[in-house]
Amino acid sequence: MSNVYESKVLDVHHWTDRLFSFTTTRDPGFRYQSGQFTMIGLQVDGRPLLRAYSMVSPHYEENLEFLSIKVQDGPLTSRLQHVKPGDTVLIGRKASGTLLLQNLLPGRTLYLLSTGTGLAPFMSVIRDPEVYEHFEKVVLVHGCRQVDELAYHDLIEHDLKKNEFFGEQVATQLIYYPTVTREAFRNQGRLTTLLETGKLFQDIGRKADLEQDRFMLCGSPEMLKDVRAWFDKLGLKEGNMSHQGHYVIERAFVEK
Ligand SMILES: Cc1cc2nc3c(=O)[nH]c(=O)nc-3n(C[C@H](O)[C@H](O)[C@H](O)COP(=O)(O)OP(=O)(O)OC[C@H]3O[C@@H](n4cnc5c(N)ncnc54)[C@H](O)[C@@H]3O)c2cc1C
Repeated sequence: MSNVYESKVLDVHHWTDRLFSFTTTRDPGFRYQSGQFTMIGLQVDGRPLLRAYSMVSPHYEENLEFLSIKVQDGPLTSRLQHVKPGDTVLIGRKASGTLLLQNLLPGRTLYLLSTGTGLAPFMSVIRDPEVYEHFEKVVLVHGCRQVDELAYHDLIEHDLKKNEFFGEQVATQLIYYPTVTREAFRNQGRLTTLLETGKLFQDIGRKADLEQDRFMLCGSPEMLKDVRAWFDKLGLKEGNMSHQGHYVIERAFVEK
């Protein structure tokens, strides 16, 4: 059996000239946990061209959704950005990744820290009712350069609170903190600076509590490096599939 299956594109949304999202059909046998990624791609010159992508859609959803960068000379996304409803994309049969509740020590507040397309895995995490059973508060931070790159802003800010199954949990337990670096916006500044200066904690009205705060990170290699250095200074330990820790990390992309 091939390690990928063919899915049909159902819908495409272009957020900006660098960012788009799309939904596809889902093989009923494809299972994943919130926060995981798989390999997706296109058939190019008779061969599968695949890249890692996090699932935006919650694990129980009938269809799949992905959020994608458009790299103009990128082997995959120079092509993928042109997909239309009815086109075929390849989806891996196996999901993996470390952004899992089970890799974190029990705690009170879960911080989901993302930049750019690093938001993608957290879109499934914040729609997983189990997350709200494990943590009193879930704080989603999304850093971008420009306001129009804040994908899913209105869905998170307004629509999720109306969801018939977990809307109440979102309304009372989820704190959404979008922040922008290159335009005027209600929150401004780099994620690392917001953490180190304590501004993030001040703005959301919570004290940093190293005993009870847990972190999931997904973003640019630079952001991950800086935040990891800060965690090291504080003595926080990284979790993985064999040891629970204070934080877990996934790269949003690899710098080549
Ligand atoms: C675990 C994991 C999960 C990922 N999840 C996603 C996802 O959900 N959505 C997504 O768009 N990408 C994601 N990526 C990146 C993705 O795998 C590809 O790199 C991306 O689709 C570009 O593919 P490409 O072939 O066009 O260019 P590539 O040759 O893969 O990349 C070319 C260059 O483009 C830049 N780049 C690549 N991806 C990004 C990005 N996402 N944001 C900013 N710059 C980037 C980098 O500088 C990279 O060196 C993930 C990567 C990893 C390792």
